[in-house]
Amino acid sequence: MTATTTSKSHTSIRTRFAPSPTGYLHIGGLRTALYSFLFARHHDGGFYLRIEDTDRSRYVAGAEEKLQESLKWAGLTWDNPEIIFQSQHLSIYKKYAEQLVSEKKAYPCFCSPEELDSMRKEQQAKKMAPKYDRRCLHLSPQEVKQKIVTGEAHVIRFLIPNEEIVQVEYTDAIRGKVGFRTELLDDQVILKSDGFPTYHLASVIDDHVMQISHVIRGEEWLPSTPKHILLYRAFGWEVPVFAHLPLLLNPDRSKLSKRQGDVAVEDYVQKGYLKEAILNFVALLGWNPGKGSEKEIFSLEELVKNFSLEQVNKAGAIFDIKRLDWMNGEYIKRMPIDELYKKVQPWMSKYPEVGEEYWKRVLAIEQDRLDRLDQIGEKNPFLFVDPEYNSTLLRWKDMDDKILREMLEKAHAMIQNIPKENWDREKLGEIFLAEAGERRGEFLWPLRVSLTGAKQSPPPQDIAWVIGKEATLKRIHIAILLIS
Ligand code: GLU
Repeated sequence: MTATTTSKSHTSIRTRFAPSPTGYLHIGGLRTALYSFLFARHHDGGFYLRIEDTDRSRYVAGAEEKLQESLKWAGLTWDNPEIIFQSQHLSIYKKYAEQLVSEKKAYPCFCSPEELDSMRKEQQAKKMAPKYDRRCLHLSPQEVKQKIVTGEAHVIRFLIPNEEIVQVEYTDAIRGKVGFRTELLDDQVILKSDGFPTYHLASVIDDHVMQISHVIRGEEWLPSTPKHILLYRAFGWEVPVFAHLPLLLNPDRSKLSKRQGDVAVEDYVQKGYLKEAILNFVALLGWNPGKGSEKEIFSLEELVKNFSLEQVNKAGAIFDIKRLDWMNGEYIKRMPIDELYKKVQPWMSKYPEVGEEYWKRVLAIEQDRLDRLDQIGEKNPFLFVDPEYNSTLLRWKDMDDKILREMLEKAHAMIQNIPKENWDREKLGEIFLAEAGERRGEFLWPLRVSLTGAKQSPPPQDIAWVIGKEATLKRIHIAILLIS
């Protein structure tokens, strides 16, 4: 027999994000949360948060708070006022596990880790796939009773019904038809000897109790899905729709890992990536708006409006940091200066105190060239300290000292004559160009170098505008003194 599962006819869409608290929100986890959120919101459905904290060996103190903080920061608000912590519902999982035992769909297993290990080794030696050989399934009821009465440690295993069902099939909302042969499935442990459920049991029970209509999760959970479907059937519950998201890959197509870059969302925030850019970028890791659409910049509202599972790819999605940089730059460009000023606060302390107005001028000239907020000021140190340079850099092509001095003196006089009220970026540009006339290079190069000491920089009017009339005059004066 084949157990076939097709889409469920849910009246309301309900999704969940079910992270294990391992210390931080992984960028892949953010994508899973985002897609679950977008799908639910697109259908006016519910989005719920569940913390899967039953693996005590992986417990990290404070991890739940960090997860919640990151989700709130991203604006992915969940609908349950009380977050579900699986560790607080142990009695429910135990009750359901016992129900399966009483229905002979699960059984206690008393095998010790050593016994399991030698079983595995024997199987490997015989070139067989390691699998529990069901030796405890064949214990007599008296033996089982005896062992339980004497307090022998045991787990509960789910009995994969591989004699009645040879194939589990279901239709994945992203991958289409998927099939698994049940003979390859191990009798999964569903309740551990410490009374904690395993992921399989807890997640099936909770998804049922929470009436989750669509389980959206990473591809790494695909092999668990047939086990889950068989558990739903064992309980007689309706099976949700599954959607397995493509893997995230490094540009060399290896699995995204810490070794090749950051994976924690908070690392990206610390590097000066904006929330809007991160969400936009992550949304496009596997999803696209459909044929004919070239649109790349999406707000969260636009994503909600456009998102569909049909437009999620099966193939792995390349995590290209260059694209994130570009996207972040696009968001920085579009940001009003007042807002940008607020956002760059964490990175301002490495520069001298210059005041708000000064900073806003710096941001105005840097805004179009920034990929990340942590880059502020980096390319233009002369905006904060007087430049140091060699007088030969002042020379435009092969101009001689006489002309160089003439040009700088002309610039000095020009600046002196500019009234304070004309000290604005555009007007300075007009004045400088008018003064240069035909002699652009000869006039503007030495002026720019006197202000920056750099081969490359924004144009002199921008620098002058930022540093102010007094500092501009002072720097030109110093340059003149440098000429022999
Ligand atoms: N706790 C699992 C995780 O950490 C959840 C898998 C699922 O969504 O079913 O990703």
